[in-house]
Amino acid sequence: MYKIELSSDDVPKKWYNINPDLPSELPMPQNSEGKEQIENLSKIFSKGVLEQEFSQDRYITIPKAVREIYQQMGRPSPLFRAKGLEEKLNTPAKIFYKREDMSPTGSHKLNSAIAQAYYAKKDGIERLTTETGAGQWGTALSLACSLMDLDCTVYMVKVSYEQKPFRKAIMEVYDGEVYSSPSENTAYGKQVIKESPNHPGSLGIAISEAIEEAMDLDNVYYSLGSVLNHVMTHQTVIGLELEKQFEMIETQPDVMIACVGGGSNFSGSMFPFLKDKLQGNSDCEFIAVEPRSCPTLTKGNYEYDFGDTKGFTPMLKMFTLGHDFIAPSVHAGGLRYHGMSPLVSLLAKEGYIEPRSASQEEVFKCGVLFAKSEGVLPAPETTHAIKVAIDEALKCKETGEEKTIMINFSGHGLLDLKGYENFISGDLAPDID
Ligand SMILES: *Cc1c(COP(=O)(O)O)cnc(C)c1O
Repeated sequence: MYKIELSSDDVPKKWYNINPDLPSELPMPQNSEGKEQIENLSKIFSKGVLEQEFSQDRYITIPKAVREIYQQMGRPSPLFRAKGLEEKLNTPAKIFYKREDMSPTGSHKLNSAIAQAYYAKKDGIERLTTETGAGQWGTALSLACSLMDLDCTVYMVKVSYEQKPFRKAIMEVYDGEVYSSPSENTAYGKQVIKESPNHPGSLGIAISEAIEEAMDLDNVYYSLGSVLNHVMTHQTVIGLELEKQFEMIETQPDVMIACVGGGSNFSGSMFPFLKDKLQGNSDCEFIAVEPRSCPTLTKGNYEYDFGDTKGFTPMLKMFTLGHDFIAPSVHAGGLRYHGMSPLVSLLAKEGYIEPRSASQEEVFKCGVLFAKSEGVLPAPETTHAIKVAIDEALKCKETGEEKTIMINFSGHGLLDLKGYENFISGDLAPDID
């Protein structure tokens, strides 16, 4: 069996919220001294998502309108067996991948974008502002806003804006308004450009610009593509579908692997399975893979830090490289974030998640091998998960174990061809440690 498919009716009716099942209490966000960032959250986020952010309910009903758009956009996504890759590696391991690349915008991001646009619309808001790294989140939110009849403004990290010009075009097709960040559109953007005219930009700066704009206007909310609890919760449609798909083939994954930027595709695919592990009913391993040049979980500190560079957000307890960290301009733009979801951070701290890092050169090599054996070209972010899946499959070859390995295939790379072009011509910049 190559493809394990569910029907539209199998789209989950509820999201799973891991908060009540955590092994220890999640540290709450905090204000920095003399500031009221927590009080300001209600100016920039919808009532719906703020309620979810702090919810202790294990399951949250997916609004009917959101579930219908999930179906319209093609959910459930299929689960594929990577037989071609298994054969190339000559491994006894079974490798599966969950096809989030099959969403119309090419990644898992639409799962939360639709929900966030829905709750903003419900509050009577007219426009959303947001950041985007590689462009996947900006694309998803532009489409979600278009479906909900909202305007959308996207601050796109400058290096990605230059590396991936077609991302801007597709956001504009969906009526998104796109600025290269740092931009002249906000006071903070202007300040950064003044201090450093050739600044490559960062997700932290783009977030600050998007929040600044939303804070000043009553009819505008801000929307974040990852990191926060409600985003992790929305993404659990992936893992809830996966549970059914593995049941259908009477298999359980032994190792689950995803890349991590802010943690949402990882959380979404794994939290329903982590629940069993937290309850002592599973031996599954959960591996989070990040770039060696942005090693948040593997080398960062677990401490309170801002989610953005300027300090508009509350302080979050998370693994962080520091809110002013600027990652080198690797092609995996979606993984160039200084912080990490507080939920993922806590579970990594407690030993339930194993973090690993990989270099740009080695992940592209694995991405190309995957494309050649399976046909699908992975996003540069997704290649990080593939790299570790290949490592695990090769370990099985040595030991003879027939492990079941699951990759969350977060997105395709058809708009990231500059990176592949550089890899093939030998022009990828080396990683900086
Ligand atoms: C955004 C993105 C990521 C990283 O973000 P997470 O929130 O960690 O999932 C990974 N892969 C793709 C394809 C992305 O678009």
